[in-house]
Amino acid sequence: MRVELPSLSVLRSAQTAYAHTALTRTVGVGGAETAAIEFGGDDAVVIAGPCAVESREQTLAIAHAVAAAGATLLRGGAFKPRTHPHSFQGLGHEGLAILAEARAATGLPIVTEVMDPRLVGAVGDVADMLQIGSRSMQNYALLREVGARGKPVLLKRGFGNTVEEWIQAAEYLAVEGNHQIVFCERGIRTFADGSYSRSTLDLAAVHAIRELTPYPVIVDPTHAAGRHELVPAQAAAGLAAGAHGLIIEVVAHAADRATALCDGPQAIVPDTLRRIVRLAGTLREAFADTPVTPHPTTPHPAAPQTAAPQHTGAV
Ligand code: PEP
Ligand code: MN
Repeated sequence: MRVELPSLSVLRSAQTAYAHTALTRTVGVGGAETAAIEFGGDDAVVIAGPCAVESREQTLAIAHAVAAAGATLLRGGAFKPRTHPHSFQGLGHEGLAILAEARAATGLPIVTEVMDPRLVGAVGDVADMLQIGSRSMQNYALLREVGARGKPVLLKRGFGNTVEEWIQAAEYLAVEGNHQIVFCERGIRTFADGSYSRSTLDLAAVHAIRELTPYPVIVDPTHAAGRHELVPAQAAAGLAAGAHGLIIEVVAHAADRATALCDGPQAIVPDTLRRIVRLAGTLREAFADTPVTPHPTTPHPAAPQTAAPQHTGAV
């Protein structure tokens, strides 16, 4: 596979430094008031939590349950990207305060989505890791702002985007000097129409990211499947494909799927999460050494200089 990054690409030069040993650059999250987590290291990282922060009680209950199940980061959306404008949009700033409380109560670092460049400051004040959602992967103003914020970034793949476009989105973060990037494959649009699966988890893309970039890559089996029954198998498949971790949505009790304001049918219960966490360590160990063939790093003669290198100025 050939990726049309400009020869002066920041990602290309980062990859050159790592390619010959096929090492993964690790990304650290948390560590001050929370546990210190490392993406790309020996251990699989499991992020878990509700789709959306709906209330203090709901979020704290799930946060304690995922911590007890062995998850190492807490997820939860305060600002939700909803396809339908009349769907629940998240609690916004109130949701951020609830996430901060959940972090204090559990010691788990927080991953939460930011959709609006104007909110990167406020969300970044609470989040230990900023999530760029699938629908925002090509919001270049947002990518630049998040890149400049200097916090670890979870960069989800747009469900209609190629691997090449995904890597170029990461380049937007890197040109701002932010190399704390973790890619997240969350399923793409194929023939799956929702009747048996919401999207299709692109497992080959996990390997492609490992070959083409030095950054860790995780898998989101929840949004790929759209059904809780499929989540354990797709989580295991993602780790077997070489992913460094998972992000998974959880409800406190099975009955909560029916009342959740967002994505209830795809949320697993804490006991299922516990089993996935146990399996994740074994699978990561078994597949961590899968050979990757680094991408050739010679400058690309056909690549004209584009806006990205100009933007970096003296860099
Ligand atoms: C999410 O993780 O909360 C989410 C909305 O996922 P995606 O952006 O992958 O659809
Ligand atoms: Mn969701």
